[in-house]
Amino acid sequence: MTLAPHKKAKALKSSSRRPAKDLCSECGLCDTHYIHYVKEACAFLNQQIPQLEQQTHGRSRDLEVSEDVYFGVNQSMMAARKTEPIAGAQWTGIVSSIAIQMLESGKVEGVVCVQNTKEDRFQPMPIIARSREEILAAKVNKPTLSPNLSVLEQIEQSGLKRLLVIGVGCQIQALRAVEKQLGLEKLYVLGTPCTDNVTRAGLQTFLETTSRSPETVVYYEFMQDFQVHFKHEDGSTELVPFFGLKTNKLKDVFAPSCLSCFDYVNSLADLVVGYMGAPFGWQWIVVRNDRGQEMLDLVHDQIETQPVTSQGDRKNAVQQSIPAYDKAVTLPMWAAKLMGVVIEKIGPKGLEYARFSIDSHFTRNYLYVKRNYPEKLEQHVPDYAKQIVSQYTLPD
Ligand code: FAD
Ligand code: SF4
Repeated sequence: MTLAPHKKAKALKSSSRRPAKDLCSECGLCDTHYIHYVKEACAFLNQQIPQLEQQTHGRSRDLEVSEDVYFGVNQSMMAARKTEPIAGAQWTGIVSSIAIQMLESGKVEGVVCVQNTKEDRFQPMPIIARSREEILAAKVNKPTLSPNLSVLEQIEQSGLKRLLVIGVGCQIQALRAVEKQLGLEKLYVLGTPCTDNVTRAGLQTFLETTSRSPETVVYYEFMQDFQVHFKHEDGSTELVPFFGLKTNKLKDVFAPSCLSCFDYVNSLADLVVGYMGAPFGWQWIVVRNDRGQEMLDLVHDQIETQPVTSQGDRKNAVQQSIPAYDKAVTLPMWAAKLMGVVIEKIGPKGLEYARFSIDSHFTRNYLYVKRNYPEKLEQHVPDYAKQIVSQYTLPD
């Protein structure tokens, strides 16, 4: 895709309504003069994943190949973990370790990543890191919408030519759309999957509704054992089964952007590091192209790996979860715990767990867009997502 060069447009004030309105994920593009490209670049105004896959990976997903349909263009996949995990990272710290190696090997001069503000551990603060310490200070998820692209103007001003950007799908889609305008010699993109993100205020509601001690949570993750794991300041872990979440209170917590997102797996990153296709305790790696492999090679002596596996059948569980979510059913805690134990024993594992999660989110999101933005449905939902959703019977 070629965009015409632009005369400097003016960034929007932080209080101004964004062009994508309620669907804005606060990716940061509109905080810069690259807002000039927003109509083409915004993930919520112009879904163009197949074209950008072609531009980035040299081909788009093959809709005849199931692994492509689900996980995007890929050269290889594996489960991995650091032999010496980084304390306080979200998982074992593979993302931070790759970023450090990219910087210290001289492949890049800076890394776009997101720290938190001094006052608030969950308030995102995007930066261009130039040292190992600055990268490490960005470890762990800020589970809130984060304006990572707000630093794009600083890149231009700093004269950086080789850059690594770490980000989630909506940020990376907009980045890919303006990539050629950034004046870089080389761009590497290290992505994570992302779903069910929230605004800072929404996060507070989630913590207060779900955790026994919201003010001491330092980290949480929706894990492969069908429980939310909260880590607290004192090092203790609190487990809350998915099926016990107060769905009626949480339905409106997730950001509208995330309820209409079909890029869970970060299709346009060179390398993706998540967890959902891997056994419990391991991370899941998807290498999409040669730049991704180049990044992964830098940490080969810091990680152990094993092949991805797949077990179980997700389809019944997904079909049953659709009306349950729609009616905001919440089980009593004893039943939720029991269901969690049973499903952990006999439920989907490895790549089948990842498919379970993708199917559940795509069916929910398809219904959300159909009901709230019917005029957008056809263009906004990519063909691979329509294929996934068509396996299920949906309510009106
Ligand atoms: P670390 O070494 O701890 O580094 C984390 C990196 O994430 C940092 O470099 C930081 O810059 C970046 N980051 C933190 N918060 C944000 C943010 N809000 N936006 C953009 N970048 C950010 N994986 C799955 O498999 N399934 C999921 O459903 C899933 N949901 C996620 C939701 C969110 C909001 C985020 C940010 C990530 C999600 N992930 C998911 C990815 C997963 O939780 C880990 O981030 C990933 O496995 C990397 O772990 P790590 O220990 O290697 O990362
Ligand atoms: Fe702008 Fe990003 Fe919001 Fe779209 S999602 S309106 S590009 S800030």
